[in-house]
Amino acid sequence: MKPLEELVRPCIRALKPYSTARDEYAGGVISVWLDANENPFDNGINRYPDPHQRQLKRQIAAMKGVREEQVFLGNGSDEAIDLAYRIFCTPGRDNAVAISPTYGMYRVAADMNDIEMREVPLGRDFSLPVEALLGAADSRTKLLWLCSPNNPTGNAFPAEEIGRLIRQFEGMVVLDEAYIDFADGEGFLPRLDEFPNLIVLQTVSKAWGMAGLRLGMAFAAEPVAELFGRVKYPYNLNALTLRTATRQLAGGIGPCVEMIRRERRRVAEALAAAACIERVYPSQANFLLVRTADADRLYEALIRAGVIVRNRTRVAGCEGCLRITIGTPEENDRMLNTVNDFRL
Ligand code: PMP
Repeated sequence: MKPLEELVRPCIRALKPYSTARDEYAGGVISVWLDANENPFDNGINRYPDPHQRQLKRQIAAMKGVREEQVFLGNGSDEAIDLAYRIFCTPGRDNAVAISPTYGMYRVAADMNDIEMREVPLGRDFSLPVEALLGAADSRTKLLWLCSPNNPTGNAFPAEEIGRLIRQFEGMVVLDEAYIDFADGEGFLPRLDEFPNLIVLQTVSKAWGMAGLRLGMAFAAEPVAELFGRVKYPYNLNALTLRTATRQLAGGIGPCVEMIRRERRRVAEALAAAACIERVYPSQANFLLVRTADADRLYEALIRAGVIVRNRTRVAGCEGCLRITIGTPEENDRMLNTVNDFRL
């Protein structure tokens, strides 16, 4: 890895972050709050939330076995994706490398930030092209995007290969683990201290069942996590999100992950036996990627039956493919009935 100072944009290195009213009070015992131009009449949300989200960070750090200072919380992982470009990539000058196909926001956020995105196709059966990824980087490459388990392919990459990429890549590696709770392995959080250039993204949108809350997490070495804290909007998480997350996370993840994993096995077997399905790709996520001879027609047939899946046939590397999220057993059965009845 290059020294962090070389990787961070000069304007971010020099940034003096906005100081909120609450940042400026030193913590004496206050019972009259007249510093932030808030409305004094209590309706549950009349006060600004903690801009540093200390309580929720403490709770998440304890849950994940990391230090509070290694945690950034954002408005979904999508906020952390955008901020990674803003922190490390100078528009019109720097570039990023990513696998392809993968989650679409890495490219959209690159385009928004005027950053060249170099996409490296996955290998046979969606394997990780380690050497090609390293080869695609040059002295202006700041970020390498990995997603494991990967969306939309569903496979997780071998930890040994991910580790090699993190060690050999000179910039920051962002490893998106949005689906890690559905996978067999535990991911890279336990190894965060090994890699000063690693940023792990996770979210409560999937296994925790809180996509509506908009809470994403980035975990990184303290100096990197601190940079995310500097560039975010002061109140990027609202009071309702903070309160609900605190309560829901305390309740534990519950049995739904195991149910979804069980359904994933059952649905994969049923799809593999369906006449119109040519291939069900192995999945470590809460969805299955399947290949069929006519993805558009099967997609339309499912819509006629009131079932929506994601048509990925126009994504390079996913020709003929639909991505099917694992639902409840009843929902999966409705989808399977249509697939079984479908004739090419
Ligand atoms: N990363 C991946 C790989 C995803 O598939 C998604 C959502 N589909 C996200 C991140 C976005 O997560 P969030 O809801 O936390 O913004």
